[in-house]
Amino acid sequence: MTSDDHDHQHCLEMFEKLSEYIDGELDHATCEEIEKHAKECVACFSCMETLKKTVALCKNVKEQPIPQNFSKKLQELIKNLSKTTTPR
Ligand SMILES: [Zn+2]
Repeated sequence: MTSDDHDHQHCLEMFEKLSEYIDGELDHATCEEIEKHAKECVACFSCMETLKKTVALCKNVKEQPIPQNFSKKLQELIKNLSKTTTPR
């Protein structure tokens, strides 16, 4: 049995919606889907927290969109997390 039955492709699809999620632009059903996934997925949960902090920082400094390379960083984060995540 592998601990990595998780479909990380789904994670990446989620990340594309995360900025809208943070901005409250998504409909209720999509928000719930993201929150549910984040509860089951350490990688996504961490990314969500990171994104929230990043957005908060950006808003404190000045209004600006999330950097283009952010999703790249998220992908690296997933890789690292899926390596370090301990199987249950
Ligand atoms: Zn995930």
